[in-house]
Amino acid sequence: MALMVKKFGGSSVANAERVFNVANIIVDDYKKGNNVIVVVSAQGDTTDDLIEKAREINPDNPSKREMDVLLTAGEQISIALLAMAIEKLGYPVISLLGWQAGFNTNTNHGTARINSVNTDRMKAEIDKKKIIIVAGFQGINKYDDLTTLGRGGSDTSAVAIAAAMNADRCQIYTDVDGVYTSDPRKVKNAQKLEEITYDEMLELATLGAQVLNNRSVELAKKHNVELEVLSSLERKSGTIVKEKVKMEKTLIRGVAKDTDVSVISIIGLKDNPGTAFRVFNALAQNNIEVDMILQSVGRDGTKDISFSVKRSESANALSCISALKDNFEYVDLKSADDVAKISTVGAGMESHPGVAAKMFEALFDSNINIQMISTSEIKISVIIEEKYADKALSVVHEAFFN
Ligand code: ASP
Ligand code: MG
Repeated sequence: MALMVKKFGGSSVANAERVFNVANIIVDDYKKGNNVIVVVSAQGDTTDDLIEKAREINPDNPSKREMDVLLTAGEQISIALLAMAIEKLGYPVISLLGWQAGFNTNTNHGTARINSVNTDRMKAEIDKKKIIIVAGFQGINKYDDLTTLGRGGSDTSAVAIAAAMNADRCQIYTDVDGVYTSDPRKVKNAQKLEEITYDEMLELATLGAQVLNNRSVELAKKHNVELEVLSSLERKSGTIVKEKVKMEKTLIRGVAKDTDVSVISIIGLKDNPGTAFRVFNALAQNNIEVDMILQSVGRDGTKDISFSVKRSESANALSCISALKDNFEYVDLKSADDVAKISTVGAGMESHPGVAAKMFEALFDSNINIQMISTSEIKISVIIEEKYADKALSVVHEAFFN
């Protein structure tokens, strides 16, 4: 007998048929004698629809507190419907809102962090042999006000329950059947991974793999909760996310593309000590996250600095640099949006030279110019022209996986 936590995303419970499909998956595990706690998201596009409704009333800024009252309603609907489906199948079940399941959060409406999960109620229901259906993405703060955890937060709710209840398994069901070596819609021969480490998953999630919410992976790593990502539509095994995985033949776990990138270039800066400090200090103070940085060699007393930011931050970054004008000379300041970032990720590359060379060779063979490079222990990223992004994704993937 095991304690299983299962999370189902919005698409997995989008309509009555899917709700029954999920109910059957749950009941199958319960029938084997397991205890089952389920976390669900709001059905389909419910959360987006609720946000739209708020805009109709107050397009500018409805209070974050009332937004949370509104958005938590989405999950309230799905837990009730799923519980009813399980009742209909004839099994004991109870639905719980976030606060009933013991989710205490901080007071940051819309992006609340979980402080603790009081497991008393869940344990009592398990003792009564009930299947528990918990509303994801929500909790309650110290003022007894409803909070939400940020978009995609139900994954985090599931991991938090698995950690607090010391569950044997934490399964995240979605509409894809696992984590792939690249986007299967764009790259033929993208392969499903049996296993991936938390760190690799975190890199791939930020790079847009979009299977698991980042905070949920961080939380899983912190509490060492092994995750399984699998499909709710096909009954087959998925991808396991854990601390260490067995070495596979390939050193690379995946190749990802990110087009949410802009490159800002400051040309002809005075080559003095402290210049880079002033640029990046100003950006940091404005909360602008910088990804890659490139500084040219000085010539004639000047140098160039380029860096990449999220595309939505590029206007902010430009005005932040222009605001430095006093005592800060440069010839030109420009931004480019027609760029993309291609990254290879894999814990194995750390101890194996040649991964970068192989990636650059693949790009060279396709005549794709590299504008910037950055490396970490488990990742190599390059900035290229956006129009070559899909091509680059394919050729780099092919270099490592064929
Ligand atoms: N329903 C919420 C959202 O759409 C939470 C979730 O799906 O995890 O962001
Ligand atoms: Mg959702």
